[in-house]
Amino acid sequence: MNMDGIRGRLTPNRNLSELTWLRVGGTADYLFQPADADDLALFLTQLDPGVPVFPMGVGSNLIVRDGGLRAVVIRLGRGFNGIEIDGDLITAGAAALDSHVARKAADAGLDLTFLRTIPGSIGGAVRMNAGCYGSYMADVFVSARIVTRVGELREITAEQLAFQYRQSDLPDGAVLVSVKMRAGMGEAAELHARMAAQLQARDKSQPTKDRSAGSTFRNPAGFSSTGQADDVHDLKAWKVIDDAGMRGAMRGGAQMSEKHSNFLINTGGATAADLEGLGEEVRKKVYASCGIQLEWEIMRIGEPQLD
Ligand SMILES: Cc1cc2nc3c(=O)[nH]c(=O)nc-3n(C[C@H](O)[C@H](O)[C@H](O)COP(=O)(O)OP(=O)(O)OC[C@H]3O[C@@H](n4cnc5c(N)ncnc54)[C@H](O)[C@@H]3O)c2cc1C
Repeated sequence: MNMDGIRGRLTPNRNLSELTWLRVGGTADYLFQPADADDLALFLTQLDPGVPVFPMGVGSNLIVRDGGLRAVVIRLGRGFNGIEIDGDLITAGAAALDSHVARKAADAGLDLTFLRTIPGSIGGAVRMNAGCYGSYMADVFVSARIVTRVGELREITAEQLAFQYRQSDLPDGAVLVSVKMRAGMGEAAELHARMAAQLQARDKSQPTKDRSAGSTFRNPAGFSSTGQADDVHDLKAWKVIDDAGMRGAMRGGAQMSEKHSNFLINTGGATAADLEGLGEEVRKKVYASCGIQLEWEIMRIGEPQLD
């Protein structure tokens, strides 16, 4: 691939498994690590429009399939880590880790505590409308800067992103480069104490030391009297998985965690096919046991390995 004036790093056939939390997956045709937003824009301007682009955060919500990804993966690094605070506004580079942003905000007396226990990057948090403890990215989002697939730097609004549960409408191939958030005020010591308590609560109930990608399936939506799915997720995925007898179920090196049955973990040596196959088996068993079709919350990308 010929690129003029690029300052970032372009690597062909890059193995993606070490870039994801689950440590599985094949290679990407190319991995590009831009030096900064202008460098990314220059790269995308020159990239053949027919080549798919996949922006990757820190891979905490991904299963990359064993056959890899026929695409250019864009991974943001050091040039996208900045965090600036101005009054109640926090602007973070898309590669900044959620936990880091939450701590910096708390130091300044700003409440982004819900981000503290989410292991992703700010770009991934916007794309996935990440949230926990009753708060979501959509609640604090003001605007973001993106580089579009054709290499234009633009601002994007909440209306354009149309946040939904664990989802937003980012244009195809666009890469978030920075995000502006507005946070409520709090007392720094109290915010830090709250985050410490949340970390403890997680460690108690979730397999935080294992390789996972967080919740595997969405909590099933309820149904209103009209039969329309609503946005209340009171029925817990872990409960229907337990009822279907799948807590602790294994396939190869993949397991539905004994500690929290909605966490799919790589116990060591799992392939993406083991993980996805086990997830699909859980969906079948749950459907057979209670008629509910679980929906994946983990994104699965790329191609299966051909034998
Ligand atoms: C132990 C554990 C606990 C978790 N708990 C929670 C939780 O409580 N709440 C929750 O919401 N999630 C949770 N997650 C899931 C995950 O951390 C979030 O979805 C997170 O927001 C993903 O961020 P990431 O940077 O890892 O994105 P990735 O997994 O790398 O990518 C996810 C999506 O975001 C897109 N993306 C990432 N960066 C960019 C960018 N710069 N520009 C454009 N698109 C981008 C990718 O293309 C992909 O579509 C958990 C995961 C783990 C492993």
